[in-house]
Amino acid sequence: MSDLTATISRIAPGGRIGILGGGQLGRMLAMSAAELGLRTHVYCPDLDAPAMDTASRSTRAGYDDAEALARFADSVDVVTYEFENVPAETARILAEHAPIRPGVRALATAQDRLLEKNFLTSCGIPIAPFADITGVNDLTAAMGRIGAPAILKTRRMGYDGKGQIKLDEAGESESAFSSLGKVPCVLEGFIPFELEISVVVARGLDGAVAAFDPVENVHKNHILDRSFAPAFIPAALAGEARAIATKIVIELDYVGVMGVEMFLLPESAKTSRLLVNEIAPRVHNSGHWTMDACAVSQFEQHIRAICGWPLGDPARHSDAVMTNLIGAEANDWLALASRPGLSVHLYGKSEARDGRKMGHVNELFPLGKRP
Ligand code: AMP
Repeated sequence: MSDLTATISRIAPGGRIGILGGGQLGRMLAMSAAELGLRTHVYCPDLDAPAMDTASRSTRAGYDDAEALARFADSVDVVTYEFENVPAETARILAEHAPIRPGVRALATAQDRLLEKNFLTSCGIPIAPFADITGVNDLTAAMGRIGAPAILKTRRMGYDGKGQIKLDEAGESESAFSSLGKVPCVLEGFIPFELEISVVVARGLDGAVAAFDPVENVHKNHILDRSFAPAFIPAALAGEARAIATKIVIELDYVGVMGVEMFLLPESAKTSRLLVNEIAPRVHNSGHWTMDACAVSQFEQHIRAICGWPLGDPARHSDAVMTNLIGAEANDWLALASRPGLSVHLYGKSEARDGRKMGHVNELFPLGKRP
């Protein structure tokens, strides 16, 4: 529980939150901030920025525009972000003018797969075997050690399966490394997982931690398709998943919401173990179900955390299935809106391009009754 007597500086209703990035996550953060009586200022270079519709104020400027960044940070009480690839220099400038939460260490760790894996290993958290790859020679040697199949991933800027390639045999090393642009990479052992799960966890300014229930995630074309809340996994594994997520936010001295993606790997006919795949230092697509199935959503939880408010109760009052609406799937909005028991969330994006996240729907079920 949060300690209300802790001497922390809270941002009271009326305060201003700066959100770097103008996508749907920023949009939903701004909506939650408004519900708590807080104002938001969104900073984003894009013309079509869904978060600008729901924020109190917006700035359209580049992430390298030092003057605009300084003005933006001076206009708010705290800065947060809705994407992890915030350039280090951008974060440094912002941090000179306002507190940035989550902090720059979390950002630097989560935006570089090698730093992230080294950090997780140093915390004793199990992950897939990996190797640092700077050239083809490293890759050939690492393939020998880790074995095929394996996955080569760029250290930076990968998302939704982009910036990664599966290697079925060592002979594919050179072409794989070239096709990723010969940039610094990590090689990961391929995990024959049984399930992919994630935990959305929050840590408050006073150090309190609250984790939502682990959910099962199913991907389509490398993009999250559905999250099932809760994941049908043994209670001990669910507890372990929360404990891992909790350890990560404590070790990083983190403030805000984080998504922790994990693989469930069968060990024997009866037992499985968890390996962390990656962490996202922000609200997470696999936490969208909390908007309708919990008293406090992941978005409100993040706003509470970065403003020094007590964290909300992460307990779910319903089971839920979240389905992303990708590209043209959002054209079915009328049929979806007429289905009882379905909550429709649309992001206000003008063009339904292939692979673009246009919205999501949450279907609720009584506790213990999800399909
Ligand atoms: P990532 O960008 O690291 O989240 O990877 C995207 C997706 O690729 C994951 O959700 C998995 O479905 C798959 N994947 C990533 N890494 C591995 C791995 N080491 N073994 C098996 N599948 C993986």
